Amino acid sequence: MNVLIIGGAGYIGSHMVALLAEHGADVTTFDNLSSGYRDSVIAGEFVHGDLADPYAIDAVLARKRFDAVMHFASYIQVGESVRNPAIYYRNNVANTLNLLQSMVAHDVKRFIFSSTAAVFGVPQTDLIDEEHVKAPINPYGASKLMVERMLADFDVAYGLKSVALRYFNAAGADPQARIGERHEPETHLIPLVLQAASGYRPNISVFGRDYQTADGTCIRDYIHVRDLADAHRLAIEHLLHTGSSEQFNLGNGNGYSVAEVIEVARRVTGRTIEVVDGPRREGDPAKLVANSTKAKAVLGWNPQFADLETIVKHAWAWEQRQLEARKG
Ligand code: UDP
Repeated sequence: MNVLIIGGAGYIGSHMVALLAEHGADVTTFDNLSSGYRDSVIAGEFVHGDLADPYAIDAVLARKRFDAVMHFASYIQVGESVRNPAIYYRNNVANTLNLLQSMVAHDVKRFIFSSTAAVFGVPQTDLIDEEHVKAPINPYGASKLMVERMLADFDVAYGLKSVALRYFNAAGADPQARIGERHEPETHLIPLVLQAASGYRPNISVFGRDYQTADGTCIRDYIHVRDLADAHRLAIEHLLHTGSSEQFNLGNGNGYSVAEVIEVARRVTGRTIEVVDGPRREGDPAKLVANSTKAKAVLGWNPQFADLETIVKHAWAWEQRQLEARKG
């Protein structure tokens, strides 16, 4: 099976490359290395190119007959999207449209799309399933929902089949610590907490303690990056065998508050972690927790690293490797 992975040098994309290669797929990564790293791509072929360049996309699609395309190359910061929506609509929507048009031109019929829990906006229910109303409260979520809409239209018009996977909070690292989260600057909670534990940062800022939650801090559903990658692999299988376009919410169904994440990190690392209280971050709903029953039933998805301790343990092993690398 030939799979093209746009954004395969990034955090989730690089785990995808590794996992698919382990399952015997022939993987091609296409990445502009704007936020990814060449040495995070630990298998397959690497093509340096930019999703904003339709000629480069066309050239990579002409290289071989791809059975599926996966798309991880998007901007992902909620707060930044509120301040600078233009780059979110340009990169996440316009560039994805170019990619889809090019796929149609090359007769590539299967697409796995990285969507997000942010398409739902403020949750109306305790656990969020696929049918939940979609009312994004930030440009990031809006940009992903626009692509979901395009995918529905491309299916009807061109027979392009797709699976949109709505990630809750991707976290953790490769269980062998070969690859992990490496954003620059880092904005995500777990790596920041662990950098505070390792001494790389002086402290961790808690963004708001006045939410309507038990301890006042935001609740999120953290899902291991390896389990996320496995859902993508199963999504390709689904498109190969069944063929219907679908959307799935991917999380563990367990919510942890920011304060609880810090507590787990203290336990796992055995270090002191200094906490500073900060203001709320723009665009953050109080609680986002998935109902992933559909992914389990339809894809046969079965997360292997569902507990937060394991997620933090793997992220901690990776953070310690990074600390060594930064010194060296
Ligand atoms: N958060 C925080 N301090 C930080 C970074 C994040 O309190 O330095 C909070 C953030 O407000 C959210 C949760 O941690 O409630 C997860 O944020 P992250 O950026 O990791 O993921 P997101 O939910 O934006 O996808």
